Amino acid sequence: MNKNAATFIAKSTIKAADLEHRRKINYNISKYNAAVPNGKKQFANIESTRELAKNIKWEAVEHLDKYLLEFEKKISERGVKVFWAENDKQTLEIIGKICTEKNCKTVVKSKSMVTEEIHLNPYLEKLGIESVETDLGEYIQQLDNEPPYHIVTPAMHKSKEDVARVFTEHLGVPNGLTPEELTQVARNTLREKFANAEVGITGANFILADIGAVAVTENEGNARLSCSMPKTHIVIAGIEKVLPSVHDLHLFWPLLSTFGTGQKVTVYNTIITGAKLENEVDGPAEMYVILLDNGRTNLLVNPTVREALNCIKCGACLNVCPVYKNIGGHSYGTTYSGPIGKVITPYMKGMEDYKHLSYASSLCGACTEVCPVHINIHELLIDNRREAVLEGYSTIAERVAWKAWKKASLSRKLMNSGNAKLKNWVVNKMVKGWSKQRGDIQFSKKTFNEMWQDFRTDL
Ligand code: SF4
Repeated sequence: MNKNAATFIAKSTIKAADLEHRRKINYNISKYNAAVPNGKKQFANIESTRELAKNIKWEAVEHLDKYLLEFEKKISERGVKVFWAENDKQTLEIIGKICTEKNCKTVVKSKSMVTEEIHLNPYLEKLGIESVETDLGEYIQQLDNEPPYHIVTPAMHKSKEDVARVFTEHLGVPNGLTPEELTQVARNTLREKFANAEVGITGANFILADIGAVAVTENEGNARLSCSMPKTHIVIAGIEKVLPSVHDLHLFWPLLSTFGTGQKVTVYNTIITGAKLENEVDGPAEMYVILLDNGRTNLLVNPTVREALNCIKCGACLNVCPVYKNIGGHSYGTTYSGPIGKVITPYMKGMEDYKHLSYASSLCGACTEVCPVHINIHELLIDNRREAVLEGYSTIAERVAWKAWKKASLSRKLMNSGNAKLKNWVVNKMVKGWSKQRGDIQFSKKTFNEMWQDFRTDL
């Protein structure tokens, strides 16, 4: 077993037995579950909306080359510099170079999973640059020195008492402050950072090809401040974020809000088309966009798993997943957790190191059922398992066991031979892992042929 798989199993085992963790998660997810039906009411026909969204994303991903070039051309015409980065290293170098040129001491950052993916904060720290998370959930996680727990709700595993403790420990405020008071503390601290930061970094919820723009959606206004107050704005966007047209937003903004948080529409929705123009008073003097691959093209070249690039990162599949709800977001050891994380990570970071994630699923299909863009998540998990075997990443023991199983199950003679006691002993010795968390395998006392014979006699 590789190191990542062993760590995953160890962490999951501990978390699954942590009842306090389960209580907090169930409480926070129950609030989400209560809100979503309200959000859905805005759609006359939610099923056809999802189908339409899937088709638009399909069009965008199938013609990614065309739409990305169109985006680059349009936004470059307004003076925005666009970079294409193959991996995290290239992205960090580009950001490092820009920050050094600007003599940057402080970066304000809005919530962005792609910056987690490239480990931006530790990199900036090494350059002596303070990188401040400005989304409240991310800020709490940064103070507590933890990565985001969930792709939409970074501090979902924390209660309000946990947050108060974090603020007391790291900001020295009195313990037991109310959520409103804690928010005020964060607001006062962050305002100062916004005012002094030289560079603002945001992700992109969508990049719009036809008008050459970046669409950012958020609830706190911090992304809007991050991209408008500092003199330099850098956007990092995964290449799959593209939508063909600005007109697609009327569908994707409410869809993302409803499936992400249960809102009809998120509080702040911003379309950024470039830096400040001559006659404008607000906005950055310069804007850069980095289009990041980092393994996404490994998904793109595979016609089966390509549909995973349709994901709009709403987090709904995490919220319904029985595995996620038990083991939590940190056990995965990956930036993207939950069902969609299990599908994409082996392609983005290596099948050999992350194939184990595809097996951490009950295959109940709840993720597929809830996905707003109809990604066949649970079937892709099965496909990942197949892909891992085809790439030669199954163990010898696994191969021998399946060969023996195939031989036995294709032979009526072998199926009928031996008594149940002997078969139980052999099989339970062979597949010890199976019975670690379950009862032993028990063969029926009678073979199928014997039962069929009895059935015919009874007729
Ligand atoms: S796979 Fe579907 S449900 Fe999961 S985060 Fe992506 S869009 Fe949302």
